[in-house]
Amino acid sequence: MVDRLANSEANTRRISIVENCFGAAGQPLTIPGRVLIGEGVLTKLCRKKPKARQFFLFNDILVYGNIVIQKKKYNKQHIIPLENVTIDSIQDEGDLRNGWLIKTPTKSFAVYAATATEKSEWMNHINKCVSDLLSKSGKTPSNEHAAVWVPDSEATVCMRCQKAKFTPVNRRHHCRKCGFVVCGPCSEKRFLLPSQSSKPVRICDFCYDLLSTGEMTACQSARSDSYSQSPKSPLNDVSDDDDDEDSSD
Ligand SMILES: [Zn+2]
Ligand SMILES: [Zn+2]
Repeated sequence: MVDRLANSEANTRRISIVENCFGAAGQPLTIPGRVLIGEGVLTKLCRKKPKARQFFLFNDILVYGNIVIQKKKYNKQHIIPLENVTIDSIQDEGDLRNGWLIKTPTKSFAVYAATATEKSEWMNHINKCVSDLLSKSGKTPSNEHAAVWVPDSEATVCMRCQKAKFTPVNRRHHCRKCGFVVCGPCSEKRFLLPSQSSKPVRICDFCYDLLSTGEMTACQSARSDSYSQSPKSPLNDVSDDDDDEDSSD
């Protein structure tokens, strides 16, 4: 199906419609050989709460953005090269159903589809695109992933010292290595994680000790890859981490 559509007029037209919906702030999306596989609204688990985002799956990239006007206008475009993507199913829990993790070296997050069928369609298509790309390039799947951030609402106290209570003054921070919500004193150190940033990034003391004693490389994860959602508590939306790239998202 992919190859048949690659040079079709319909495919080119669909891609230019997506391009136009993002307007001048978006990247050009029309390149030879690129195919739009599918699109739809997914709920992205952002730092503060789950939010609807429009996703577009191409054969080589995954694009998403905020919905300004459904099917007409999107902004805040993000482009993820599929070659480095790994996905993992998430078990249903409470209101958060039909989800999976999208993991990349620079950023990892959870998304949720409206139905189980949609979820399996998305996951199958993404996996197919990734494996096609890897078999074409001869590369091996990426095993280096940024931590999935634990949402703010999951932690009322620091997940490392278990003591510091979060307040408007004592704000939440995220360790870039394990994704835990931690207090300032537990995350004063910085460490260079080249896949995430050219500058040293905030990490918790626990991860710092492991990284600096060489017990863990910058590529390994400080916690198991299994990621579960605990039942939602009322949103404890008191903090604004200045180093949160998702804060405006
Ligand atoms: Zn702490
Ligand atoms: Zn950590």
